[in-house]
Amino acid sequence: MAASPKPKPMDTIEVPLNEFCVIKPTPAKGYGVFATRNIPQGTRVLSESRILNFPGTAMEPWGLTKDARDALVKSIGHQLSSLAKEQQREFFALANAHKEKLGAFLGIAVTNAIIMDYETKEHGVFLQAARFNHACRPNAMRTFHPILDQVVIHVAKDVSEGEEITVSYIEPAHVFSLRVQLLKAKFGFTCVCELCVLPVREREISDLRISTIILLFNSIRNETVIMNEPLASLHNTHTAMLLQKEEGILEILASTFYYDAATILSQWERKRW
Ligand SMILES: [Zn+2]
Repeated sequence: MAASPKPKPMDTIEVPLNEFCVIKPTPAKGYGVFATRNIPQGTRVLSESRILNFPGTAMEPWGLTKDARDALVKSIGHQLSSLAKEQQREFFALANAHKEKLGAFLGIAVTNAIIMDYETKEHGVFLQAARFNHACRPNAMRTFHPILDQVVIHVAKDVSEGEEITVSYIEPAHVFSLRVQLLKAKFGFTCVCELCVLPVREREISDLRISTIILLFNSIRNETVIMNEPLASLHNTHTAMLLQKEEGILEILASTFYYDAATILSQWERKRW
């Protein structure tokens, strides 16, 4: 998440992140990561190891007993103590949306956590990946690569020199009201991305497209529908992809839909024989 505190108006400090991008102040969001060159779609702009990790229970700390929460804080503190001073300083400069309720260690960890394993729900904190701001129509994808054991960020679209590189902190296919709720509760900010500041009428059209994508997505993933109506499922996949293109999130979600299309075709083949 964007670093805090917010920069002063005259603050023009730029910190190189790597050969592709730089961290610099951005008016509405504190700091952000910006391209220092034109970057073609698909380029990996970051791969980074975690500085600390913790179990998924840390992501719902409000339901934990005091002992369990204390143990988590102790574990995070222990991992932090083994880091270099500069890394510790960078950790404490990250945003904390839960300072009042969770304190510094756990609050910063939860605010900046990235999931590493969807089965075990293990999460990690990555100092550089945390600097990429959120957008509801992001131009990059952030995922954990289990073989590299690193978080990786790829640009999902061509990015121009000077453009901010953004990722989505939440599932990209959510309607406006749910996005507002999730981002405020989990990350403590109100999104001002191009999608969230659309005029109401355009936002309603966007919400309608997203709701339809979700409905199609649920139908596509329904095994009974796939088995009985494989061609209809394939048609729904195609329609969902067209809607995603209109919505500007096709590149972000396309891989899952190609996977769905391949699954439907294999079911269809099995049915034919
Ligand atoms: Zn937004």
